[in-house]
Amino acid sequence: MEFLQPADWRGALEAKAAHPGATPVWGGTDVMVDMNFGRSRPDVLLDLTRVGELTEWRRADGRVRVGAGVSYSRAIDELGELAPGLALASRTVGSPQIRNRGTIGGNLGSSSPAGDALPPLYASGATVELASVRGVRELAVEEFIVGPKRNVLAEDELIAAFSFPAAGGPQQFSKVGTRNAMVIAVCSFALDLRERSLGTCIGSAAPTPRRAVEAEAFALDALDWDGGRPAGEDVLVRFGELVAEAASPIDDVRGTAAYRRHALSVLARRALKWAWEARCA
Ligand SMILES: Cc1cc2nc3c(=O)[nH]c(=O)nc-3n(C[C@H](O)[C@H](O)[C@H](O)COP(=O)(O)OP(=O)(O)OC[C@H]3O[C@@H](n4cnc5c(N)ncnc54)[C@H](O)[C@@H]3O)c2cc1C
Repeated sequence: MEFLQPADWRGALEAKAAHPGATPVWGGTDVMVDMNFGRSRPDVLLDLTRVGELTEWRRADGRVRVGAGVSYSRAIDELGELAPGLALASRTVGSPQIRNRGTIGGNLGSSSPAGDALPPLYASGATVELASVRGVRELAVEEFIVGPKRNVLAEDELIAAFSFPAAGGPQQFSKVGTRNAMVIAVCSFALDLRERSLGTCIGSAAPTPRRAVEAEAFALDALDWDGGRPAGEDVLVRFGELVAEAASPIDDVRGTAAYRRHALSVLARRALKWAWEARCA
């Protein structure tokens, strides 16, 4: 196996162009697991951990651009105000070691429907920046992930960064699992509440993370945006039902489709209640 370790971003893009089949690796918390279990045996590993540019994040024009090499621990420590939903989701990932090593760029690269960083990115309308020696393109995260563990990254491209509008109100993320840590989500739900809009996303209950667009439209109409009256139980219940209806879960070792739908309706109801109360407090 060949091991490439470029020192900067330009070198990384050139290495990927020269070795289109190379597997990029940052934390290795997915890549190395697949290799250890014999699920993959790359001819070339492209280690990106020396590319300092990927570890940077910055705020510009109301948006936040985060390099693909930013870890969960850093998202928790540094992005809690700008992306509280992503920080909440990051807290639920693995263990301290996995959060130190694993990156949000790696979660995007794996494109698992159960990736915990993904629902907050969908709910906030994030974009993903892909780069190659040919240039840069920016796609909505929904366009980037196209199926379970499938995305549109071309053979010569790398994920440079992702961007999202800075939080404009309360955000929530909840995850159901068999225990509190080191667990793949049975299902999850993210909510991003703004001045007069809201975004949602269901995790681990469809082939990709998925926005619950009818639930969003319903809440937009049903909530008292001007007066700030508490959300009624009927509104919360209907919102939960619409979120559950948007999912297309399967039965698997982690849970049944019916359980996932039920759990999602509860997560969504609670997320909306907590976020709305925080907005109107
Ligand atoms: C014990 C354990 C617990 C875990 N718990 C959770 C959990 O609770 N929630 C969760 O969502 N995940 C969990 N994971 C999975 C994993 O930690 C995450 O998916 C993490 O985000 C992967 O990041 P990484 O930097 O380690 O990626 P890597 O393993 O280095 O890479 C992952 C994928 O992304 C690609 N990639 C990485 N960087 C780039 C780039 N810049 N450009 C293009 N492609 C790139 C790689 O080629 C690979 O396909 C767990 C893993 C382990 C081993």
